[in-house]
Amino acid sequence: MSDGNGLFVFDEEQEIDSSTIVRKIKVLTVEDDLNYQHALTNSLIEIKLEDNCEIEVLTANSVSQAALVLSFHPDIALTFIDVVMEDDDSGIRLVSTIREVIGNADMRIVLLTGQPGFAPEQQIMKSLDIDEYWNKSDVSAEKLQSIVTSNLRTWKYITQISSARKGLQLVLDASRSINSKHDMRSFSKAVLVEISNILNVTEGGGIMCSTQSDGELVRAHISSANGCFDGFEGKLVDNNILLPEIYTDFKRALDEKRHVFSEHHTVFYFCNREITVESYITIVQSDNKISEQNEYLLKVFSENVSTGFSNIALLNKLTELAYTDVSLNMHNRNWLTREIKNMNLHEQYQTRLLVFEVKQFEEKAFTFGHDFCQKLLKEVYKNLIAIFDGYSARIAIINNSSFGLLINANFDMTDEMIASLIRQKCIITSVKQYADLRILDLALSSVLNIVPEKIISIAESSLSDSHSTSLTYIKHTQEKTDALTSRYSLMARLRRVIGAGSLQVALQPKMDLVKLTPVGFEALARWQLDDGSFVSPEVFIELAETAGLISELDSVVFDKVLLTIDKLSDIGVNLPVAFNASAFDLVDPDYCQKILHKLKDANISPEMLELEITETQAISNYDLIRESLDKFMALGIKVSIDDFGTGYSSISHITEIPANTLKIDRCFINDIESNANNQYILEMIVNLAKRFNFSIIVEGIETREQCEWVKTIGCNVAQGYYFSKPLFFDDLIEWLKQYGKV
Ligand code: C2E
Ligand code: MG
Ligand code: MG
Repeated sequence: MSDGNGLFVFDEEQEIDSSTIVRKIKVLTVEDDLNYQHALTNSLIEIKLEDNCEIEVLTANSVSQAALVLSFHPDIALTFIDVVMEDDDSGIRLVSTIREVIGNADMRIVLLTGQPGFAPEQQIMKSLDIDEYWNKSDVSAEKLQSIVTSNLRTWKYITQISSARKGLQLVLDASRSINSKHDMRSFSKAVLVEISNILNVTEGGGIMCSTQSDGELVRAHISSANGCFDGFEGKLVDNNILLPEIYTDFKRALDEKRHVFSEHHTVFYFCNREITVESYITIVQSDNKISEQNEYLLKVFSENVSTGFSNIALLNKLTELAYTDVSLNMHNRNWLTREIKNMNLHEQYQTRLLVFEVKQFEEKAFTFGHDFCQKLLKEVYKNLIAIFDGYSARIAIINNSSFGLLINANFDMTDEMIASLIRQKCIITSVKQYADLRILDLALSSVLNIVPEKIISIAESSLSDSHSTSLTYIKHTQEKTDALTSRYSLMARLRRVIGAGSLQVALQPKMDLVKLTPVGFEALARWQLDDGSFVSPEVFIELAETAGLISELDSVVFDKVLLTIDKLSDIGVNLPVAFNASAFDLVDPDYCQKILHKLKDANISPEMLELEITETQAISNYDLIRESLDKFMALGIKVSIDDFGTGYSSISHITEIPANTLKIDRCFINDIESNANNQYILEMIVNLAKRFNFSIIVEGIETREQCEWVKTIGCNVAQGYYFSKPLFFDDLIEWLKQYGKV
């Protein structure tokens, strides 16, 4: 290896002390005058160079001979060329060949002439890429010494710069090549190839290995290998694989946590403890001696490799995190999704997804706390692993209370097995507990055209759809998939329709039964599909609630309600319009404020509005909703409790509900003339309502008889098809004409 101070860097053949190595610098003379050439050669040999360098003189006596020598010795440093040889311009042609045809720009060229007038110096120096031009008679031995030393020094710098440029280009290309690899295997393979390129290794080779051990017993697995190490992948590094001196340096690199460079091998040590406990070691054995310059290049390259290792280790860690439930230390939903994604059609046909849901998990979490539930899940996981041991099952936790398990489609779920699955014994902090589970069994062949992300959702929905049944082992069917997918697709369409604000609003009149005149309207959302048909609000309101879209939907409807009030007022109809709010809206502490802002912006008075909330929803989150309803009433917006009588606690809460009106559900009206029970309930509600100062409105009046009956018990306001179905604006205007309102 070079001692670091050498002027010239050459490959070396002999293994001797670097201070005694003589480096040959090639100098060529091209001269047809053999006497002159002889003298020149002798003088050149005499010249003493610094740093153990010595001139090796090569000769040629014609242009063609020179071309031959040049092709054998591309590393000639300096050439003396006689201008006039076979022809008057032979020397000049040779210069052009060297520079333009051979493309050697580094070699120094000195032109010599015996007939100075023949080729004037100024003209030659200007037109040719040469370094000096001398009259032969002026070149004394001393002159020659200075010509040679100055040109060789220049050549040295030029070649150093040019080889550094080439080397750095190599490193740049190598870095580019390894940076395009994103997994450890192809990255480490690329690193080995690129190091071999930089070192120009022909008969050596390299290995890449990783280890977590720092101590005496090093267990490093080879992840990739090339050249003379081909075929060692997967093996452990030991001194049978590596030469003893390389093995020693391998251990040294690990002990001292650094790269180790040697004459015929290098050991790179890469580690980033912040990201991984793994250390990566790259060992390259080179048949060529590793020069100082190459060592430098490798150091530069190793910086890129080190960054690359960190990036890939980071990527691996992120990937691992993305597929792991960190607190439970088990695979998560993403992982299971990926497992399904990686299956081909045949494998899907061959696989079943089982979902295990821990029953009453929320209640358990509420009663026993988070820690207990985590332990419970770990126990269930352990049980599942044990029960399915030997059946190549893949298990993951897919939501906070369920596990997903992939297993062969032909797997036989025996009754005993189901029994052991649905009631599992768990020991939690030394106390025996039971975890009750529900199982959904879904053949992946029943969800073939569905993206893997949705397959798990379908399984979950299928399981929750059957919550009302007491079944604990539920088989999913193709029909269920069809029903669920059409529901999902409707949900997606609803999301778009709400986003575009293109839901419509229909108005249903509320009638004063005594005066037989409209006293207000209820705004009801309408969703018309492209084919002209309407989706029932019973369907899409529930969908919006499930998809978390209900507040957005209500907001779209509310904006249209304000526009409608404005349009009605323009034609002289100043009657209040009721809008339906959901519990999701009312639990938002800012909801009332948002409504108020909109009212102010539209310049509409609060008396023109009424809020309807179903009794069931009003009771659902009673404290929060009561606060919200109070605010509305304080603002002068009337509140009606919709579908009154269908909720359980209606009567008991009647004194506390902040509302102006009770809107009696149409289920009491259907058969009011004949159903004594309903007559009794209705009368009781009306009496109570009067006692507590509520107004009453009855919904669902379809016949004159129903209308008469409710009037007799003192209900004076009603809504129903008997008067009008919900109408779009233009139809409403027509309808209003009969009452002389427009
Ligand atoms: P609701 O607020 O109790 O509305 C009354 C429902 O009864 C309306 O059904 C109306 O068309 C229907 N109806 C009225 N008179 C009669 C009648 O004489 N006979 C019969 N059989 N039905 C009658 P619709 O429009 O299908 O709405 C259903 C429910 O959807 C509404 O019940 C309401 O709870 C909800 N909803 C509608 N629009 C909205 C909205 O914008 N936001 C929210 N959150 N819910 C809405
Ligand atoms: Mg309503
Ligand atoms: Mg109602």
